[in-house]
Amino acid sequence: MKLGVAAAVVDGIFVPGDVEVEDGRIAGVGLAAPGGSGTAVPGFVDLQVNGFGGVDFLDADADGYRRAGAALLETGVTSYLPTLITSPEEQLLAAMRAIPVGDGERPRVLGVHLEGPFLSPARLGTHMASSRRDPDLALLERLLDGGPVRLMTLAPELPGADALIGLLIARGVKVSLGHSDATAPQANAAFDRGVGTVTHLFNAMRPFRHRDPGIAGAALSRDDVIVQVIVDGIHLAPETAQVIWRAAAGRVALVTDAITAAGLSDGSFSFGDLDVSVHDGTVRGPDGVLAGSVLTMIEAVRNLHALGVPLADAVGAATHVPARVLGLTEAGRLAPGLAADVVVLDDRLEIERVLVGGDVLVAV
Ligand code: ZN
Repeated sequence: MKLGVAAAVVDGIFVPGDVEVEDGRIAGVGLAAPGGSGTAVPGFVDLQVNGFGGVDFLDADADGYRRAGAALLETGVTSYLPTLITSPEEQLLAAMRAIPVGDGERPRVLGVHLEGPFLSPARLGTHMASSRRDPDLALLERLLDGGPVRLMTLAPELPGADALIGLLIARGVKVSLGHSDATAPQANAAFDRGVGTVTHLFNAMRPFRHRDPGIAGAALSRDDVIVQVIVDGIHLAPETAQVIWRAAAGRVALVTDAITAAGLSDGSFSFGDLDVSVHDGTVRGPDGVLAGSVLTMIEAVRNLHALGVPLADAVGAATHVPARVLGLTEAGRLAPGLAADVVVLDDRLEIERVLVGGDVLVAV
């Protein structure tokens, strides 16, 4: 099957011509494309999705995952990590039991992102303080045994966090720094220990100051750290997003941090045990603190592109860069021989079609 596109983003480079899909894989690129239109890009990979389309992953069942998945596909996401915020152990274990990982789900469920509970009491944002925990190896082992944990956000400055990082790395789980009051030396020590990424850079962490640059300064100053960012025009000022890009082009991963309300209209929703309200695209808890987003990944790509980032690079920030956080070498890429997870964009960057494993699952 030929996609009938005029071009494709192939491993980060614009390649004019059509794309052929065969047996669920990309069979060819750069093919003659008489009358072709639109651009094929890799399917988006989102590392931080708390919920979507009216579904909260803290209490979703199989039907909830189907509904959220269908809504995520419409936004171009073909692989994601359901993300569970700080919650009581029993609730986290129950939520992880419901995750349909490896069940041929569309979009693909890559595992779970545990955002907490080992976070700084000073940088919790809207996470529930009553469920926050100091580093506890036995609790971490129970969580790791309880579900397909792929990524964990923690605060590295907490006493005992080093042992958590050691266990996570030994178990093949990626570690992300976030909801943390760490100084730059504390962040650098964690990066040197093998931590490779930061959760929603600048949000819920010690602010960057000229003599106290914190996690943000440490992460931006070194080449081996991928920074995850929420580019919704709310969590970061445009200038901040541009500074991040100038410091870290090629190692910026877009995330949505989307909550239940994403894909719906304004109103009141629950997010974990929290009541939140959505107004004009901004999500706030009862105390007025930002509480996730209603951003979609295609909007994030458009927003980053609108800040002056070339489209192929903005697409990279939604595809192969987040895949790299998880150590995946095929996901988030469009190239011959790889699984055909593809988003077809029209010239206004609207989504026309979404394919997962060569199957057309969204056709507008
Ligand atoms: Zn967060």
